[in-house]
Amino acid sequence: MGIVKNILYKSASKSFLSAFKNQSIFPYYHLVKDKSVAHIEHLYEFKNTQQFSHDLEILVGNYKAMHPKDLIENQKSINTFLLTFDDGLEEIYSVIFPILKQKNISAVFFINPNFVDNTVGLYKHYISIIITHLKKNHFPIETLRQISSILNFTFDSTADFKKKIISIKYADREKVNEVLDYLNLDIEMYLQTEKPYISKSQIQEMMDAGFYFGGHTMDHPPLHQLSHEEQKKEIIDSIQWLKQNFGIKYSFFAFPFSDKLISKKLLQELFEFDKDLKVFGNSGLKKDIDQRIIQRFSLENPHKDTERQIVTENLYKSFNKLIGTYNIKRT
Ligand SMILES: [Zn+2]
Repeated sequence: MGIVKNILYKSASKSFLSAFKNQSIFPYYHLVKDKSVAHIEHLYEFKNTQQFSHDLEILVGNYKAMHPKDLIENQKSINTFLLTFDDGLEEIYSVIFPILKQKNISAVFFINPNFVDNTVGLYKHYISIIITHLKKNHFPIETLRQISSILNFTFDSTADFKKKIISIKYADREKVNEVLDYLNLDIEMYLQTEKPYISKSQIQEMMDAGFYFGGHTMDHPPLHQLSHEEQKKEIIDSIQWLKQNFGIKYSFFAFPFSDKLISKKLLQELFEFDKDLKVFGNSGLKKDIDQRIIQRFSLENPHKDTERQIVTENLYKSFNKLIGTYNIKRT
């Protein structure tokens, strides 16, 4: 959260929530789980099942659940919520799917086809696994030095090392495999035993139960580090993969990491690919350059009060309107 949002959060009262129901909201999460996981724990925190169920009570108590098909059919709706989950982690099947099914709430899940069925994983997840391993061994300085030389960075403390390794460039992701080798970490074994990602048959089962899926690029790259053509291919291939493997007719897509640097030209070309495509960003309650772009905000932080967080997003929307940054500009 930025400085302004933090100030707004501190002044946000839960009782304001009833005043902020004139628009639909699109919260997003990655996973819900009652224990930590090596491939996530150094990247971000997430909610447990009890906290997630509490979120659902708040959402259902204040908004109507929107069905994804209303989006596909361009039905106008206010005072609704639609849940979305990024990255296709296995917890969407083992934890989230049963909870939502029981409550009769549909949702959209954005997946990276390359990781489906656990043959390979996201480089950022590998980095978290590496940090978990180093932590267990109390961050031995000589090992950190070796790793930093493989990855080509310098560091002045363990905290600095963690920051630098987490932010290595997508183009250097092959070097992460070198680090895994150097540490004798068997990533294939990890993928086979932990099964961090969803499988094709699980996707099919969730689709059959009325849940929706969208692309999230093939490989989860930070798109701004790729060329225009590479960006377009990563996006369209992931949408096509779902159509080809599951015969779905609709097109949903969510940008990995952030939509901030996505160009107008790319969006125009995506809508040329499918005029009915709905794309999802994570810029909060803002208005994008096209109605087919849906902006979301995260409810994943387990330390924030959910009602106050939704109020904060609405206050931040008013703030953005005031200073002229409510309408997203793209070049
Ligand atoms: Zn993602």
